[in-house]
Amino acid sequence: MELAPYASDPAQSRGRRFFEFDAPTRTAYQRDRDRIVHSTAFRRLVYKTQVFLNHEGDLFRTRLTHSLEVAQLGRSVARSLRLNEDLVEAIALAHDLGHTPFGHAGQDALNACMQGYGGFEHNLQSLRVVDQLEACYPQFDGINLTFETREGILKHCSRANAEILEAREPDGVGRRFLAATQPSLEAQLCNLADEIAYNAHDIDDGVRSGLIAMEQMLEVTLFERHHHQALLDFPGLGAKQSQRRLLFETIRRMLSEQVYDLIAVSGVELAASQPSGPDDVRHSPPMLAFSAEMRSLSVQLKQFLFRNLYRHPQVVQTTDLAKQVVRELFASYLAAPQELPTNFGADSVADVQLLTTAQTHARVVADYIAGMTDRFAAREHKRLTGQRLFTQMAE
Ligand code: MG
Repeated sequence: MELAPYASDPAQSRGRRFFEFDAPTRTAYQRDRDRIVHSTAFRRLVYKTQVFLNHEGDLFRTRLTHSLEVAQLGRSVARSLRLNEDLVEAIALAHDLGHTPFGHAGQDALNACMQGYGGFEHNLQSLRVVDQLEACYPQFDGINLTFETREGILKHCSRANAEILEAREPDGVGRRFLAATQPSLEAQLCNLADEIAYNAHDIDDGVRSGLIAMEQMLEVTLFERHHHQALLDFPGLGAKQSQRRLLFETIRRMLSEQVYDLIAVSGVELAASQPSGPDDVRHSPPMLAFSAEMRSLSVQLKQFLFRNLYRHPQVVQTTDLAKQVVRELFASYLAAPQELPTNFGADSVADVQLLTTAQTHARVVADYIAGMTDRFAAREHKRLTGQRLFTQMAE
C-alpha cells in the first residue's frame, strides 16, 4: 500500500549520527526495529515492572508485553492512516527502554536521588540507552538509530535537558522542546497507542489481581457501555464461570472503539489540513487525536485507575519498598564505586564533558540502576545492604 505524503519516508530520513551504508534488503526503519529487538535493554524489559511487580504473578503485563501491545495498536492505526508501520513499530518497541526497575516508583526514586546531579527522566534515559549505553558495535556506542526513531523515543524532555541535547547535537532531537514543534505523525501515534494500551491492560491486570472488582469498573462510562452491550449480545457471559471472558470481551470492545475513534477523527483532520510532508507535520499543531467525547472518556478511565489501582494500598506498599531499594542502591554505589562492575560507564560518560566529576559519577550509578531488572535490583540490594525486602521474589 502506498504511504500518505505526510508519512515518514525512510529514503528521506535525516539519517544516523554515525554514517552507515544502507542495508541491502531493509529500509532504515526496519533496520532500527531489528536493532532494538536485538538490544540488551529490550530483553531486560521482560523482567521489568509495568504496574505489578514482576514476581507478583506470571500473567500480568511486563514492560515487554506492554511494549508489544503498543506496537500492535500503533501498527494497526498506522496502516489505516497510511503512516509508516516500521517506524511506528521501532518507536513503540523502544519507547520504554529507559525505564528503571519497579516501574514509576523506581523512576521517581531515582529522579529524587539524582536531584543535584541533573535529575533522571525515563524518556531521556530511553534515548540514552539507544544513543550511548548499548555496547555492541565496534564503531560506536549505542545502536545508531535514525533521527526519526530517536525523535519518537524522546517523548518528553525538560527544557534544561533539551538545551543540553541541543548543545551536543545542534538541530537534533532536543530542538522541538525548545522550538515547540511536533514530532512525526508516527511518534504522535505511539504516544496515543501507549495510552490506549495501558488504560486497557491496567484494567485487565487490576481486575485479574483482585485489586479492582469488575462491579467497581462500572462507574467508568466506557467500560460500563461495553460491558452492558457485551451482556446483551452474549447473555451467557453473565454466568460466574464466564467472568474472565466478559472482562476480555469488554476490554476488547473498548480498545476497538478507541482505535476506530482515533482513526476516524485523525483521518478527517489529515484530510482537512493535508500536510505536504513530515516537516509540514512538525510545524503544525498535533494532528492525531481522539474526538472530544473519547478524550473525556479516556480521562475518566485514567482517573479511575489512578484512584483505585495506582494508589491502591497494596500497590503503594510494594512501591514504597521499591523506592527504598532504589534509594539504598544509589547510596551504596555512590559511596562504594568499586561495587559497580569494572569499567561500567567508561564508554557512556565519554561525551559528557559538560558534567562535573560528581555529576558524572552519579550519572554512571543512575545508568547502572536504571538498566537493572526488578529481580537483579533486589538481589544487588540484598548483597549490598544485607536486607531482603521482597520476600516472595525468587532468588
Ligand atoms: Mg509505555
